[in-house]
Amino acid sequence: MVGLGYDSHILAEGKPLLLGGIKIESDLGTIAHSDGDVVLHALCDAMIGASGLGDIGELFPDNDSKYLGADSKLFVVQIMKLLEDRNLFIINVDITILLEKPKLKNYKEKIRQSISELVKLPVENVNIKAKSNEGMGFVGRQEGIAAYCVCEIQQKA
Ligand code: MG
Repeated sequence: MVGLGYDSHILAEGKPLLLGGIKIESDLGTIAHSDGDVVLHALCDAMIGASGLGDIGELFPDNDSKYLGADSKLFVVQIMKLLEDRNLFIINVDITILLEKPKLKNYKEKIRQSISELVKLPVENVNIKAKSNEGMGFVGRQEGIAAYCVCEIQQKA
């Protein structure tokens, strides 16, 4: 089974920017109810989508004070448990991050490592791509950041 996840957040000055659980040096960071990690939120929705479990908002409502400032790694950990309970195993994860600045080339390997640990996969089965939006749209104007994730999951007998 394949799942697609997407997430976006508004960028603002003086906020932290976390991607895949890794802190990025940036003048702009995300405004969010949780820690605003678009990479982990897209990953969560891809995992949930592939396993037919709904969406991240149903599992972790953003009006629940329990998740205020939440570490998004904990969302992934909880979804991993839901998958394990159902004998579902992740085959691979492919992520695309859309961010105008800064360039993420020095962070991609760290993000990859972080995600491989979270989803218990060899790094070869985790792929991170980063691109600008060539100045177009909300990403191009640095009003926001977005991420897509595709995840393949297999059921073991
Ligand atoms: Mg989000």
